[in-house]
Amino acid sequence: MPADRIPPAARVFCIANQKGGVGKTTTAINLAAALALRDKRVLLVDLDPQGNATMGSGVDKNAATLNLYQVLLGETDVATARVRSESGNFDVLPANRELSGAEIDLVQLDDREQRLKEALEAVVGDYDFILIDCPPTLSLLTLNGLAGAHGVIIPMQCEYFALEGLSDLVNTIKRVYRNINPDLELIGLLRVMFDTRVTLQQQVSAQIESHFGDKVFKTIVPRNVRLAEAPSYGLPGVIYDKSSRGAKAYLAFGDELIQRVRKAGAAAQNKAIA
Ligand code: ADP
Ligand code: MG
Repeated sequence: MPADRIPPAARVFCIANQKGGVGKTTTAINLAAALALRDKRVLLVDLDPQGNATMGSGVDKNAATLNLYQVLLGETDVATARVRSESGNFDVLPANRELSGAEIDLVQLDDREQRLKEALEAVVGDYDFILIDCPPTLSLLTLNGLAGAHGVIIPMQCEYFALEGLSDLVNTIKRVYRNINPDLELIGLLRVMFDTRVTLQQQVSAQIESHFGDKVFKTIVPRNVRLAEAPSYGLPGVIYDKSSRGAKAYLAFGDELIQRVRKAGAAAQNKAIA
């Protein structure tokens, strides 16, 4: 590479939805593993004190004495705290319940919502994708995720109140975009835990498409028990049973995301040349 060319840096995406149990962590783990299967270098950042993304990647959250908490407080760096997910073939910045104290400890620090962004800057050259698994809140932790990302991926279930809850998140994204992170973009909505037999889900799905248009990913992740079983083995679903419908959907989603990023990159380059 010529010396004047800037080396490619990771695209950073938050997996966010302020509701719990909507499939954020399942999406984060399986997307990380799906991208790794396509030879992408991936870091999965666990921004939830529950540490589910850490455990589901086969990393023991309680053994992770250096984790995201110490990184946010500036006591260690990402390169030191990251751990390999052997099962998923990607890196994990682990979290455990220590992280729940960060909310309070961060308040006293300067740039409290920029801590994650600043910490990740040292490793953006090591990865193609950095995925951030957000907690089910619109808290200071989530704000750190949004402040450090290029885009947000919102997994959602096609249920009656799904759209209502979405407007709070979309407003938060707009506020972060205006005030702290002009790079932030809504990448897309991913329909998950989908059951085609439920008429209501089909109706809500159609509603989401008409409301958000091409911001809705084409891939739909079905409700599939294999995806729910996988974390108890410390395996991503796409590795645990790669022929399951759930695994196939997340592999397709990974490919769809790569396509989108490629298209966006080409469009930006054309704009720069024009
Ligand atoms: P969140 O991170 O938003 O709280 P999770 O990813 O932990 O949500 O998912 C909540 C629960 O639903 C978990 O038990 C998970 O295994 C299960 N689950 C997630 N996606 C699916 C799916 N497509 N099919 C079946 N179960 C799923
Ligand atoms: Mg979660």
